[in-house]
Amino acid sequence: MTQPTTIAIDGTAAAGKSTVAAQLSQTLGYLYLDTGVMYRAVTWAVLARNIAVTNEEAVSELAETLSIEVTTTGPQDGRFYTVLVDGEDVTWAIRAKDVEAQVSRVSGYARVRTTLTNQQRHLAAKGSIIMVGRDIGTVVLPQAELKIFMEASAEERARRRHKELIEQGQAANYETILAAIQGRDKQDRENPVSPLIPAKDAIVINTDGLSITEVLTKIYELIDTQP
Ligand code: C5P
Repeated sequence: MTQPTTIAIDGTAAAGKSTVAAQLSQTLGYLYLDTGVMYRAVTWAVLARNIAVTNEEAVSELAETLSIEVTTTGPQDGRFYTVLVDGEDVTWAIRAKDVEAQVSRVSGYARVRTTLTNQQRHLAAKGSIIMVGRDIGTVVLPQAELKIFMEASAEERARRRHKELIEQGQAANYETILAAIQGRDKQDRENPVSPLIPAKDAIVINTDGLSITEVLTKIYELIDTQP
C-alpha cells in the first residue's frame, strides 16, 4: 500500500468538500488548498475595483496581475486559512453574497482559469497536497493518485448551509439558499472551459444523509486500499 501524496477533491458547491479536506490535511499532515478561494479572490478584486464583471478582457488582465496568497496564519476567528490579495486580508470578504453571485461568471473566463491553474500546479509541486475545487482531478492535477468527487442533493446542501448560518446567528432563508445553490450548480456544470464533471477515475461519494465523520471514514478506507 502506498499513501497517495496528491489528493484531488472536486464536487458541487456546499457538498462539504472544504470541511472534509481541512480535517484530512490535518490528520495526514498535507498542504491544503481550496481553489475556490482563488476564484473568489479574483471576483472580489474585480468588484472592489469597479471593473465590469462582463468585461472578460479587463477581468482576465486583472487576474494575471493579482498576487493571491493562501496561508495558515492569521487571527483565530474561526478561519481555516487566510487569503491575501495584494497583501490585503480578504478571508471573510470573499464569502460575501455579491462575490458569490458573480464568481461563476468570472470562473468561466479561459484566461482566468489558465492563470489560476498555473498557480495551483506550482503550489502542488511543493509537496503532499489535498486540493479542492471543481476541475482538480480533470484539469489541474490529472495525475493525482486519489480523486474524489463529492456530491449531494441541492436540498440537502441547502439544509446544511441554512443550519450553519442559523448556528452562526445570521439571517437565513432556506428557499433563497436553495435557489442560489441550484444557480451555481447550473453555471458550474455549464462552465464553457471546465464544466463540472467527475474525472473518469474519480470515486464519487454521495454525502446525502452522511455526517462528515462518515465521509472521512470512507475516504480513509480508500486511502488504505490504494494499490
Ligand atoms: O468552492 P467554492 O464555492 O468556494 O467556489 C466558488 C466558485 O469558484 C465555484 O462556484 C466555481 O464557479 C469556481 N471554481 C472553479 N474551479 C475551481 C474552484 C472553484 O471554477 N477549481
